[in-house]
Amino acid sequence: MLKRLHALLFGSLRRQLVWGVALTNALLMALFAWVSIERQMDVLHERQSEYADALAQSIATSSAGWLAARDYSGLQEIVLSQRRYPELLFAMILDNSGRILAHSDPARLNQYVLDLPQTTDHRPALIHSEELVDLTLPAMLGKRQVGWVRVGLGLQTAQARTRLLALDGLIYAVIAICIGSLLAAMLGWRLTRRLYAIQAVSNAVQTGDSERRVGLAGVDEAARLGRAFDAMLDALALRDQALQQSEVQHRRHLEELVQDRTEQLVQARDAAESANRAKSTFLSNMSHELRTPLNAILGFAQLMEQDERLPPDARHNIETINRAGRHLLSLINDVLEISRIETGHTTIQNAAFDLPDTIKSVEEMIRVRAEYKGLAFTVAHVGELPLYVDGDAHHLRQVLINLLGNAVKYTDQGGVWLRMQPVGDSIRFDVGDSGPGIAPDEQTRIFQPFYQTESGIAKGEGTGLGLAISHEFVHLMGGELSVASNPGQGSVFSFTLPLPETTAPACIADQRLVLHLAPDQPPVRILVAEDNADNQELIARLLEKVGFEVRLADNGQRAVEIFQSWRPHFIWMDMRMPVMDGYQATQAIRALSGGESVKIVALTASAFRENRAAILAAGCDDMQAKPLDANRLYAQMGDLLGLRYRYADATPAAAPEAPAGGRQLQDLPEALRNELMTAAELLDPEAVHAIVERMLADYPEQARQVDELAGEYRFDRVAELCRGA
Ligand code: ADP
Repeated sequence: MLKRLHALLFGSLRRQLVWGVALTNALLMALFAWVSIERQMDVLHERQSEYADALAQSIATSSAGWLAARDYSGLQEIVLSQRRYPELLFAMILDNSGRILAHSDPARLNQYVLDLPQTTDHRPALIHSEELVDLTLPAMLGKRQVGWVRVGLGLQTAQARTRLLALDGLIYAVIAICIGSLLAAMLGWRLTRRLYAIQAVSNAVQTGDSERRVGLAGVDEAARLGRAFDAMLDALALRDQALQQSEVQHRRHLEELVQDRTEQLVQARDAAESANRAKSTFLSNMSHELRTPLNAILGFAQLMEQDERLPPDARHNIETINRAGRHLLSLINDVLEISRIETGHTTIQNAAFDLPDTIKSVEEMIRVRAEYKGLAFTVAHVGELPLYVDGDAHHLRQVLINLLGNAVKYTDQGGVWLRMQPVGDSIRFDVGDSGPGIAPDEQTRIFQPFYQTESGIAKGEGTGLGLAISHEFVHLMGGELSVASNPGQGSVFSFTLPLPETTAPACIADQRLVLHLAPDQPPVRILVAEDNADNQELIARLLEKVGFEVRLADNGQRAVEIFQSWRPHFIWMDMRMPVMDGYQATQAIRALSGGESVKIVALTASAFRENRAAILAAGCDDMQAKPLDANRLYAQMGDLLGLRYRYADATPAAAPEAPAGGRQLQDLPEALRNELMTAAELLDPEAVHAIVERMLADYPEQARQVDELAGEYRFDRVAELCRGA
C-alpha cells in the first residue's frame, strides 16, 4: 500500500517535481497567510483600542462637569448618544465607588462594577480579548478624579476582515499552487522528455539499431547528457567496428591456421597410415618369410617321422625338431598377435571346441607352476558346463593362461583359483588369487599396454602386455575383462563370454596315418602352384606317396596354363607367387570353361586371418595356413573330392623303447616330475636346468640323464619319460 502510494507520488521525476513545487507553495502560502492575519489582527486591535480610547475620553470630558456637580441627569444622554458607533458593545459612566451612573443598557443602572482598575496614575486600563476591547478610564476634572468611564468595543468587523483576508490568501495560495505545479509540470516534461528520448535510443541500440542517436539541441544539462550519450554511442560503434575487423582478421587467421593444421594432420595421418600399411606388409611378409622355411622344416620332419626305417635315435631327433619348430611357430604367432592388435588386425575365429579339454590343458600347465610355488590351485564350476561350445578356443586359452599365469606369478602365499559358471548361452570365468591385490587407481590402468603396477615393476618380470592382450581378446570375443581387488586381499579378474553349446566338431583331422588312396578310385590329378622349391617338393612327396598324380607350377600364370592343358581335379594354390599371384590365377581359372568345378584351396603363410575373406572372394573353396600338416592336407582333399584312404592301424610314430634309465624318471616324486615335464614341454632350458640342480642331491642319476637330454635339446624326450612313455 505504502509502496504504491510512494510510486504514485514519486514514481517519476515529473511527479516529484510537481509534488515538490505544490507542497512548497502550499507551505509558503500558509506561512504567509498566518503571518498576514496575525499582523492584521494586531493592527485591528490597535485601531479598535484607539477608538475606544477616543470614545472614552470624549465621554469622560463630556461627563466630568456633570459628575463633579453630582448631577447625573445628563449622563445617561451622553452615554446613549454614543450608540451610533456600530461596534459599541457597551458604554458606562461610574462614580468613584464603581456604581453605574449611566449605561448604554439602561437595565444595568445603579449596579456596581467590582473589578475597577486600581490605578493611581489615572491611566486607562485596557483589556483585550478575542471578542472585544474593554477600556476603563478615570473621568478627571482638573486633577481630581470624579468618576469612571468604561467602554467596550466589539471586534466583529476586524474578524470579518480577517476572514476575508484569509479567504483571499487561500485563493491566492490555490492559484499559486496551480501555477507553480503547472510550471513544475512543464519543466519536468521538458526535462523528462529528453531523458525519455535518451532511454528510447538506449533501447533501440540494445535491440540492434546501432545507428539511432538522441540528437538534442540546447545547453541545459539534459541536452548535454544527450550529446554525451550520442558521443558514447559513436565511440562504441567505432570500437565495435574495430573489433569486428580484428575478429574477421582473427577468424581468417584461425581458418588459415586450421587449414594448415588440417593439412599437416592429413599428411601425418597419411604418413601414419602408410607406416601402418608398411608395418602390416612387413609383418605379413615377415610371417611369410619365417613360416615358409619353418614349413619346410616341420614338413620334412613330419615326413621323416613317418619313415619306418628310421633308427630310434634319429626318430627322437626328428621329434625334437618337430617340437622345437612348433614352439618357434607359436612364438612367432604370439609376437605377431601383439602387432596385429596394434594394427587392428586381430580377428576371432569361432569353431566348435571341447571346453573341458581346453580347460584341462590350461589347468595342467598352471597346476605345475602353482605347486612349484606352494600355492593351492582349484578349478571349479557352478552348474553343468557344456562339453562342446562354439567359440575361439585358441584365444580363450591364451586369456586363461595369461590370467592364471599372472595370479601364480604375483601370489606368494595362499592360492589361485579358476571358477566357471554358465549364464544362459554364456559362461562366466573368474580367475582369483590371494596375492598382493591391486590399488584402485592402478585398476583403471592395468589394461593399458605396457602398464605395470608398483608391485609388478618390483617383481622385475613381465612387459605389461599380457593384460592388454587379454583385455583385447575378451573384448573381441564379445566380453569385457574387469578386475575387482583390494590391496592386500587378492584380485579377481572376471569376464563373461558367449559360448553357446554345440555338437562335436565335424572336422577334427583324422589322426590315423594315411597309407594310400583306397583302391577302385579313378586317378586324382593335383596341381600344386607354389613358388618355393622346398615346399613344392614337400607337398609333391606327401601327395605322390599316397598315390595322387601331381604337377607343379612355380607361378600363377604357369598354373593357369597347366590347368588348361591337364585339367586337374584339385589345385593347391599358394597366394604369393611371382609373375601372377594366387588371387589372379584363381580368378583366371574360374573364368575358364571347367574352371568353376575344380577345387581350389589356398595355401597361405600370411599371419593375417582376415585374408580369408579376400581369398574366398577370389574364388577359392577354402584355405590352409602354412606350415602344412600332412593329415590336414589329405583330409581337405578327401572332403572336397569325396576320396577314401587306406590307413595304418597305428601311427608308426609311436614312442620307441625307452632307454634303460628312462623308467627311472617315473620314480621321481609326482610334483617334481610334473614340474620337470612342464618345463620340458615349454622348451625352457633354464627351468629344466634349475630343476636338475635341485634333483642332484636326491636323484643324481636321473639328474644326469635329464641334463644330458636337455644338452641335446631333447626336451620332448624328457617330457615323454616324465609321462612314463
Ligand atoms: P606383466 O607381463 O607385467 O605381468 P600384465 O599386463 O599381465 O603384464 O599385468 C600388468 C600389471 O598388472 C602387472 O605389472 C602386475 O603388477 C599387475 N597384475 C596383473 N595380474 C595381477 C594379479 N593377479 N595380482 C596382482 N597384480 C597383478
